[in-house]
Amino acid sequence: MTTPAPPLLDLHDVHKSFGGVPALRGASLQVERGEVHGLIGQNGAGKSTLIKILTGAYALDGPGDQGSIHFDGGPVRFGSPQAARAAGISPIYQEVNLVGLRSVAENLFLGREPRRYGLIDWRRVRQEALALMQRLGLQIDIERPVGTLSTAEQQMVAIARAVSVDAKLVIMDESTSSLDDREVELLFSIVRRMRADGRAVVFVSHRLDELYAICDRVTVMRDGRTVRVARMGDISKLELVTTMLGKELAGVHRGVAADRKPAADAQPLLAARDIANPPRVRRASLQLHAGQTVGLAGLLGAGRTELMRALYGADRPTAGELRLDGQALQLQSPAQALARGIAYLSEDRKAEGIFPNLSVRENLSIALLPRLARAGLVDRAAQAKVVDEFIARLGIKTADPGQPVSQLSGGNQQKVLLARWLALKPRVLLLDEPTRGIDVGAKADIAALVHQLAAEGMGIVLTTSELEELVAMSDVAVVLRDGTSVAEIPAESLTEEAVMAAMADAAPAGDEMPHG
Ligand code: ADP
Ligand code: MG
Repeated sequence: MTTPAPPLLDLHDVHKSFGGVPALRGASLQVERGEVHGLIGQNGAGKSTLIKILTGAYALDGPGDQGSIHFDGGPVRFGSPQAARAAGISPIYQEVNLVGLRSVAENLFLGREPRRYGLIDWRRVRQEALALMQRLGLQIDIERPVGTLSTAEQQMVAIARAVSVDAKLVIMDESTSSLDDREVELLFSIVRRMRADGRAVVFVSHRLDELYAICDRVTVMRDGRTVRVARMGDISKLELVTTMLGKELAGVHRGVAADRKPAADAQPLLAARDIANPPRVRRASLQLHAGQTVGLAGLLGAGRTELMRALYGADRPTAGELRLDGQALQLQSPAQALARGIAYLSEDRKAEGIFPNLSVRENLSIALLPRLARAGLVDRAAQAKVVDEFIARLGIKTADPGQPVSQLSGGNQQKVLLARWLALKPRVLLLDEPTRGIDVGAKADIAALVHQLAAEGMGIVLTTSELEELVAMSDVAVVLRDGTSVAEIPAESLTEEAVMAAMADAAPAGDEMPHG
C-alpha cells in the first residue's frame, strides 16, 4: 500500500486581521495536482484575502494572524508576490498585468527574454511564443499589441505566460465576470488543458453553472471560515447557495410579507421588459405596482445593481423597454429619472451619496434646493420645515440640523440620504442595500419606513444581500441569475427557501418569469 500523495496546496486554519478586525478566522483550502478547485462565498467572505495570502500579497505576521501553508511538498510563507510566483503560484487577475503596446510575444517573455550575445534574441522570442500558443491551442496572433486584444484574449495570454514560467497553481479570481459565453468557453478550454497537464487551478466565480462546468471540487467560505468542501457531483446548487448564505434549509422561515396585492389588471407603475445592460444584465424584466415592494434577489454579480442603474437612468439599456404608467420611458440621466419621480438610494453611500463636510440640513435638502428657491434664493423657512419634518419622521438622531453629517452614525447617515430622496416625494424608490453596515435599530427603522411608504402608495424596488430581510420587506421577489430574471415569487409563496432555489436554479421556485 502506498500513502496518498500530499495535496499540492494545503492551507490550514488561517487567521488574518486588519487593524484588529478579523477577515479570516479559520480558513482552509486544499488543492490537488490536476484539479480545478472552485472557491465560493458571499461578498466579504474572505476569498480575496485568502488568495492574497497564498500569493504573497499579504503576510501572516500581524497580531492574531496564524495558520500554516504547505505547497509542493513543504511549508511555505511567501514574503512577496515574486516569491509566490517563483514557487509556482500564478494569479490571473481581471485587470491583466500586461503591457498594452507590446506584442503578445514580447509580453509572454517580458523580463526573461532569451538572449544571444547579451542581446534579446527576437527570433527565438517569436519561435517560443508560437510554440507555446500552439501547445495551448490558442489562436492569437503573437505579433499583435496586447492592448488590441479582447479581455478574454488578454487573460489567455496571461495564462500562457503563467504556464510558460511553469506555474503549478494558477489562480483565477473572478476572471470570467466580464466575459461573454464564447469567451468563457475559450478560457475553459485552456483551463482543461492545464488540468490535463497536471497543473492545478483555483477558480473563484459566482456563476454556479461555471463551477459545475469546470470544477472538480469546491470550497465554500463564509465569514472568514471554510464551511464546506465537496466534490461538485456531491453538492447541489441549492446546497451551495444555502451553505454560502449560512441557511439551514429546515430552519428557513416564512417571511412576514404583507398580503397587499395589486389587482391583477392594474396598470404597473413601472415596468421593465427584457432589459439588457451588458455585461451584467442580459434579459431582465419586472413589474412594480403602486403600493408594492419588489425585492430583487440574486447572488453577487447577478446584475441587481446594474438593473437598478438602468431603471434610474444611470446606464442606458442596450435592449428592452421601460414603461412608467404604461408610457414608454427613455431615460438619459438620473436627473431625468428624478424629474419623472424615480429616486435611487445608492449602495455605496460614502462614494455616491453623502457629503461628509456638509451639515445634516444641507445633505438632507440638497436635492430639494431647486424647488425651494425663489428668485434664486433658497427659502430658508421652507427648507427648515422640510428638514425638521424628515428628522422627526425618520427618527434621525442629530444634535442639531447644522451638525456635520459625518458626526452621525452610519444608520443615521443612511436615514439622511433616504430623507433626501423622500423629500422629493418620488413615486418610485429604488433602494440598493439600504441596510448594509448599519446597526440593528436603524435597520428595523428602515424596514418599518419601507412598509409605511408602500402603504402610502409608493412603489419600491429593493435589493439586500440579507435574504431574511428581503423576504420580510418585499411583497414579491424577482430573482436574477446571471443577468436574467428567472423567477417572480409572489407573496403567498415568498420564502427564503423559494428564493434560494431560484437563485440556484434548483427545483420549484414559484412562477417562472414570463418573457416577451
Ligand atoms: P471576498 O473576496 O470573499 O469578497 P474579502 O477577502 O475581500 O472577501 O474580504 C473579507 C473581509 O476582510 C471583508 O470584511 C473586508 O472588508 C475585509 N478586508 C479585506 N481586505 C482588507 C484590507 N486590506 N483592509 C481592511 N479590511 C479588509
Ligand atoms: Mg473578492
